[in-house]
Amino acid sequence: MNTLTNLYDLSFDDLTQLLAQLGEPNFRARQIWQWLYQQHAADVSEMTNLSKSLRDELAAAVTTHPFTLVTTQHSSDGQTKKALFLLPDGNYIETVLMQYNKRRTLCISTQAGCAMGCVFCATGQMGFFRNLTVGEIMAQVLYFARELSQVGERVTNIVMMGMGEPLHNYENTLTAVDRLTAPDAFNLGARKITISTVGLVPAIRRYADEQRQTPLAISLHAATDAERNKLIPINKRWPIAVLMDAIHYYIEKTNRRITFEWALINGKNDTLEQAQKLGELLRGMLCHVNLIPLNPTAAYNGMPSSPERVEAFQQELARYGVSSTVRVRRGIDIQAGCGQLRDRVVQNLQKAND
Ligand code: SAH
Ligand code: SF4
Repeated sequence: MNTLTNLYDLSFDDLTQLLAQLGEPNFRARQIWQWLYQQHAADVSEMTNLSKSLRDELAAAVTTHPFTLVTTQHSSDGQTKKALFLLPDGNYIETVLMQYNKRRTLCISTQAGCAMGCVFCATGQMGFFRNLTVGEIMAQVLYFARELSQVGERVTNIVMMGMGEPLHNYENTLTAVDRLTAPDAFNLGARKITISTVGLVPAIRRYADEQRQTPLAISLHAATDAERNKLIPINKRWPIAVLMDAIHYYIEKTNRRITFEWALINGKNDTLEQAQKLGELLRGMLCHVNLIPLNPTAAYNGMPSSPERVEAFQQELARYGVSSTVRVRRGIDIQAGCGQLRDRVVQNLQKAND
């Protein structure tokens, strides 16, 4: 396994310093930056405007492959591809490419595991291992960007909805976002990157203060504290009223529409009462609701709502003037829910070792 420095972990200043140490002029950093983030070079060896000796020196110290591919899964319609990567310290992360019409959306991880413990979530069920570095977040994007460029395509959207809670790893996640949106780096529009959060209130306020342009999605999943406490432990720390205050603050500061995520769980949070409470909470707000029938996971006995219940929930919400979309669970047949591929692979490894 590789213990070389992950080249994507270096800031532009770090890179400039590294090259100075190697006795290289300043403009080399710019050249390498372009190779990494604009040409999507797979390796230092491809950086043909560097001397062979510099490429050799760099190859001995840095890598653009900070993890190894363990397995991939394709959905039966071929539109969703999920990759499981192994990090040098034995942790796993998942990245998903979703292809729909002209969109090429990546769902990326920000942590190995997650500390938030949402009961219905496969990542929450495995617990927290560690934050991903900036370079590990970037490398997931570049991995698929390279793959797409081979067929003349590009990453068009990114959602931070893989493993982990992005705002629990604020610095690294937002440093990666800055590099993904920088015109001289990956150059993706800020509006094309969605950060999904379980609702870490101080981090949402910081995000608002920083006037961030990347859209925010809030994983709400219940409209009463009694119900949300059962699903999302962090709700006990920042209950719905406190969370909503922070969201209003964000909308005030940025004038950005907010998205709410709602995994519909049969007989739990899909009742008309929950729809009404949600309607009351969101009435008149600059927002949209994504309804996603629950993806069943190993350690939680909840089931997805039936199409009839989904429709009834959506209709009730519409009575409050709240717009919503029922999200098709693309790639459900490949366990595209976050954390689920790792679960299966780790279980198989354990069985093999028994
Ligand atoms: N930690 C962040 C982002 C990662 S989870 C967050 O919670 O928002 C991405 C989305 O998947 C969240 O909306 C989360 O609630 C949802 N999710 C997790 N497990 C799910 C499941 N089993 N079925 C449906 N959605 C799920
Ligand atoms: Fe973590 Fe999000 Fe899963 Fe909750 S839903 S455990 S915050 S990854």
